[in-house]
Amino acid sequence: MSTIFKKIIDKEIKADIVYEDNEILAFKDINPKAPIHLLFLPKKEIKNINDMTVQDTELIGKIFLAIKKTATDLGVADEGYRVITNCNEYGGQEVYHLHFHMLAGKKLTGLIADD
Ligand code: AMP
Repeated sequence: MSTIFKKIIDKEIKADIVYEDNEILAFKDINPKAPIHLLFLPKKEIKNINDMTVQDTELIGKIFLAIKKTATDLGVADEGYRVITNCNEYGGQEVYHLHFHMLAGKKLTGLIADD
């Protein structure tokens, strides 16, 4: 089943895109939990970490490099930021297309956000 993120990748739905290359897309989260809240995802449809294979390791590594580049470009690399990925129900996953939240722009406290 096609997710909302697949529709954003295919440009059927608009998003505020901050990074794109042939394998990766990043855009602003519609419901930000920090001053900067971005979502980084592979264009390849992978449901979550449970569906990741060894063939995806380079791709996932590139996502982290895209996060690093974006943090540097936004000027938040040194002050710091957080990267989160949610997996299935207990992880709080809502959209079943692998993605990494990047949160920045304020000092984050607590590992688990229950709000
Ligand atoms: P998760 O709980 O990890 O699956 O997170 C899904 C995230 O996607 C949430 O933080 C939502 O606010 C965000 N989201 C859902 N729909 C959109 C959209 N159309 N554009 C941007 N972000 C979205």
